[in-house]
Amino acid sequence: MTLSFKILNENLNARKGILNTFHGDINTPAFMPVGTYGAVKGVKPHELSELGADIILSNTYHLMERPGKEVIKKQGGLRKFMNWDGPILTDSGGFQVMSLSKIAKLDKNGVTFNSHIDGSVIRLTPEESINIQNAFDSTITMVFDECTPYPVEFDVARKSMNLSMEWAVKSKQKFINRDGYGLFGIVQGSTYKDLRFESSNKLIDIGFDGYAIGGLAVGEGHNIMIKTIKDSINFLPKDKPRYLMGVGYPKDIIEAVRLGVDMFDCVIPTRSGRTGKIFTKQGEINIKNARHKFDPRPIETGCLCHTCSNNISRSYLHHLFKTNEMLGTIYCTLHNLFHYIELMADLRNAIKNNKFNEVAEKRLNNYNKGDIEIYS
Ligand SMILES: [Zn+2]
Repeated sequence: MTLSFKILNENLNARKGILNTFHGDINTPAFMPVGTYGAVKGVKPHELSELGADIILSNTYHLMERPGKEVIKKQGGLRKFMNWDGPILTDSGGFQVMSLSKIAKLDKNGVTFNSHIDGSVIRLTPEESINIQNAFDSTITMVFDECTPYPVEFDVARKSMNLSMEWAVKSKQKFINRDGYGLFGIVQGSTYKDLRFESSNKLIDIGFDGYAIGGLAVGEGHNIMIKTIKDSINFLPKDKPRYLMGVGYPKDIIEAVRLGVDMFDCVIPTRSGRTGKIFTKQGEINIKNARHKFDPRPIETGCLCHTCSNNISRSYLHHLFKTNEMLGTIYCTLHNLFHYIELMADLRNAIKNNKFNEVAEKRLNNYNKGDIEIYS
């Protein structure tokens, strides 16, 4: 494991840094767009680069089912397969196994489950998850873990966390060390501070390139999520990247960066873009609402994204959604991803200039203002 991570600036607990990988550098705090099946839906790889994405995330569970690891391996790995030049992080499949499939059997060595595609029986173990991610040539590999639902009783959370820690050991044993590639451990323990402490210590003893906070964004809500991060982030080494998995809305990200988180991934900007839900500096809008029907303005005046800078009007976007034209989802996805990636750049600058709290408060206040003008 040889990823190098350098913290360049600190402002209170927030950090601005750079993570060097074999496939390129990642400026942190970073947002990773999600390409579930090896594609960020509707967005070409060169557009992701133009948006400023340093790294993308893909899902082991989905890709092991379709097209399968052999196809991707024979095409030279996932980056080559999808023609993305930058670094790629793959999750381990643990989360999707728990949430999407019908589990037939969970034992100390792995999970046997039915495919959510065709019902066929699949076995996934820590060793196999790492083998698959290796076949994908993933820049950052995640350990295989078990995710608990929310809420969960302490004893159940403890048992699950201990199993995940055993799987973390097995994952590391199977990982192949290569220059510029890394393996991240995942802290579990639900919302229990004692378990998060125990889990962090076990992972630090094993030793990883980075540490993820897993098991959140599973229905606990913003306040409990932030409290759990606050309770547990200081258990993690300061000199390694910290990745909050599957989070979240812009306000979740701002609060987590404030606490010292460096990396994020979430389907929210892309999934929302496909349903006409758009993030603006003045909060969320739904382009399908009638108030946009005659509105000649772009989504946001002054926004430098592809959609707004080409003066694509709200009126036109409203029409595209009403007629189910795929271009509407593409335009909105591009704007939403730009919003997230620009937010990260804004937060990085704020940290550098020792103005994190000021910039964060301005962002949060503006989100609460709401976008309410009506054109007719
Ligand atoms: Zn825009």
